[in-house]
Amino acid sequence: MSDFPIDRAIALLEPEVATYQVPVVDLIAAQSRDPFQVLVATILSARTRDEVTAAACRRLFKEANTPETLARLPVERLEKLIQPVGFFRNKARFLAELPGALNERFGGRVPDEVEELVTLPGVGRKTANLVRAVAFAKPAICVDTHVHRIMNIWGYVQTKTPLETEMALRAKLPPQYWLTINSILVAFGQGTCKPVRPHCDRCVLNAFCPRLGVVPRKPPKETMRSEPLPATRETRMKLVSWNVNGLRAALGKGFLDAFFELDADVFALQEIKALPDQLPPEVVNIDGYTSYWYPARKKGYAGTAVYTRRKPVQVLYGLEHPEFDHEGRVLTLEFDDFYLVNIYFPNAQPELKRIDFRVEFNQAVRAFLDRLAEKKSVVACGDFNVAHKPIDLANPKANERNPGYSPRERAWMDEITGAGYVDTFRKFNQEPGQYTWWSYRFSARAKNVGWRIDYFLVDPASESRVKGAANHDDILGSDHCPVSLEFV
Ligand code: SF4
Repeated sequence: MSDFPIDRAIALLEPEVATYQVPVVDLIAAQSRDPFQVLVATILSARTRDEVTAAACRRLFKEANTPETLARLPVERLEKLIQPVGFFRNKARFLAELPGALNERFGGRVPDEVEELVTLPGVGRKTANLVRAVAFAKPAICVDTHVHRIMNIWGYVQTKTPLETEMALRAKLPPQYWLTINSILVAFGQGTCKPVRPHCDRCVLNAFCPRLGVVPRKPPKETMRSEPLPATRETRMKLVSWNVNGLRAALGKGFLDAFFELDADVFALQEIKALPDQLPPEVVNIDGYTSYWYPARKKGYAGTAVYTRRKPVQVLYGLEHPEFDHEGRVLTLEFDDFYLVNIYFPNAQPELKRIDFRVEFNQAVRAFLDRLAEKKSVVACGDFNVAHKPIDLANPKANERNPGYSPRERAWMDEITGAGYVDTFRKFNQEPGQYTWWSYRFSARAKNVGWRIDYFLVDPASESRVKGAANHDDILGSDHCPVSLEFV
């Protein structure tokens, strides 16, 4: 029997999570006091971030917030309204069937018993418990992935499935916590005790949590700093660059989680492979950021984008070079005291078929950076599509003539760093095995058979403004990992 002090834990967590974002289903319950809207929100929230669920609910409830109005919407319209919630096609189908099921079985009302709720389309035991607890304030323990996971981390239960956890909690959790345990642990699981790399370092339960099965959060291992960071956020900036290998695909692999986790002031993306109007509005317009988009003319190909918290003085699209500029490869934001140049370098292609184009592009970029550096600091980031030195890839010998490590590509890196541009990551870290791209084949990422081809360079005069650099190789979602720079 566990002796985990549940009363003490909940007493500490209640005030703690009161400052966190309210889970979307609770929010909708509080705002609408309507079991139907709570039911719909709960169906939509499965395997979906709260921000995405909230936005989908707003769009949907504008057109349909009762069984009668929902019954009038065709599945195609429902799909459009609720995208990009996880499994939106299935959920649209469930929503289309819901008014009929409520009418036939429950006279158009949402039932409050778990056994009745689970007969509705798209409603499992977890959803049913949540609706019963949140919409009707009736005794129910909603065990979702956070509750199941955290209760096992605490050793309060030892179970293998959420259903086993629900049954174990019914037997031992004091009844006064039944209704609130889900909201508390969902908020806590999203904000502190995260599924990957929980923040034990700042957790209020740190002193007595047994942390069963938890892999401790590691500090970003590549981040090294030359001196303590200034205390204020006004003077320090975190810049992040990430080749997402298709933003629509990355959205389904946790892009927004990574985005919020990285908490950058400026977030540069390459290979977005999408037009902004092909993306959900809550991705184009992320709270607190302004975004700029430079897609390629060819659909589903290349393209760059930048999200920024700071207002740029101006935005420059391309290199003023028609041959290169239809591929959306260079997007520059001019700030008061520096230029951020976001670049997606072309791949030289198998058998180096595109090497001449690639080398010309390199030269145009270099001339562009030099021109900007005459005016103010320049930070150039992106997928440079080249490993510079043998230390920057797992198999240098085997790749000497291959795209990404061919002599002409490496020579350009020699040239630009020889001219004083600083490869910021190598300013701090000389270790081998520090990669930013891994092939999807042969379990290359698991074996760390990779290449370091994503960079932050700064112009020669701005080296003293560089305070740290990191590769975030624990962040998944693309075949590249994000890289970052701390800049003052
Ligand atoms: S100490 Fe770590 S594992 Fe335990 S509850 Fe806190 S964040 Fe979770």
